[in-house]
Amino acid sequence: MTQFAKRVQAIDISGIRKMFEGAGPDAINMGLGQPDFDTPENIKAAAVAALAAGKTGYTNNAGIDELREAVAAKLVRENSIPCKAGNVIITAGGSGALNIAVQSLVEDGAKVVFNDPGFVSYGALTTLAGGVPVPVRLGSDLHLDVEALKEQFSDPKTKVFVLNNPANPTGMVESPETVRAVVESAADAGVTVISDEVYEKFCYGDTKFVSAATFGDNVITINATSKTYAMTGWRIGFLAASEEIIHEVVKVQQYTLACPTSIAQYAALEAYTGPQDSVAAMKAEYEARRDLLIAGLHKMGVSVNRPDGAFYAFPQMDADLVRRVVDAGVIITPGTAFGSAGAGYARMSYATSQENIKEALARMAKVIG
Ligand code: PLP
Repeated sequence: MTQFAKRVQAIDISGIRKMFEGAGPDAINMGLGQPDFDTPENIKAAAVAALAAGKTGYTNNAGIDELREAVAAKLVRENSIPCKAGNVIITAGGSGALNIAVQSLVEDGAKVVFNDPGFVSYGALTTLAGGVPVPVRLGSDLHLDVEALKEQFSDPKTKVFVLNNPANPTGMVESPETVRAVVESAADAGVTVISDEVYEKFCYGDTKFVSAATFGDNVITINATSKTYAMTGWRIGFLAASEEIIHEVVKVQQYTLACPTSIAQYAALEAYTGPQDSVAAMKAEYEARRDLLIAGLHKMGVSVNRPDGAFYAFPQMDADLVRRVVDAGVIITPGTAFGSAGAGYARMSYATSQENIKEALARMAKVIG
């Protein structure tokens, strides 16, 4: 019988896809964290051109220089983060960036703090690295509980805090004051912040997004082309940090990945340097869908905070109601898939057409009605 590593056996497959089982073939899928848009044509064309030009070999472990420079320029221009190409490593999506960051920072028994409910990977990656996941409950408003976080930072075993803003699964966006408070508290306690900003471009109305690295040096910024440019399958993201951190994380990348896909890196170069109107169009459409979904849920009497970012709503629904909604042909994810503090909630992704959202609301009304 095969003997497996305990750290691998200790983690489970994400609960998100379990909900798809049992749903009928005409079910509306509001369970996926994936843009329903196609990758913009100019980006696809850049990949085709790279392929035609034979750019098919290994690249540097840290990615192609032009893309590292383009990402550094983006971080300076849009995020006010002091950054040069040497501070950037191109990764296999946001997931690849999270993996090399956690592998580089977490020792046996080191604690990693993140919010609960939160993105499924943070706890699993911590366990895989031999660390101890420390989920910290969000406040009742679904925003970070700064005092509870500070308490965890004061534990000398705490080495890392993963901030996810805008947040999956809640759709909440933290204020600049909150981001500053958590980054400064972490710095005081010697805790490194990993700031997962993959939903950065999807903040609605006058919601202000601020990057954590504007408030401190001991911050690793993670982002990806996946959500911003509807490029989930291309697997390109990045990690930006001090050269000291880059020196370590690049070693993990070298031995686990060698380099991200060459042609996808040329596509990402076009994404970051080419026209940005497709991002604006996707954002406007997500915002319209959010308004449609939230108004529909409120009309049914479902309690839900209006999300200001990402493409998720996190209404209050118990497990029984979630099951009945799925049985009625609308796939949604129980809040507990994102941590025990998600009990009593469900995540609804509005990365689906307005037509689908209307039909989903009609099906839900029959159940909740
Ligand atoms: N971080 C968050 C908060 C996410 O929701 C996701 C994907 O759902 C990722 C990271 C992973 O992104 P990628 O597809 O670029 O690996």
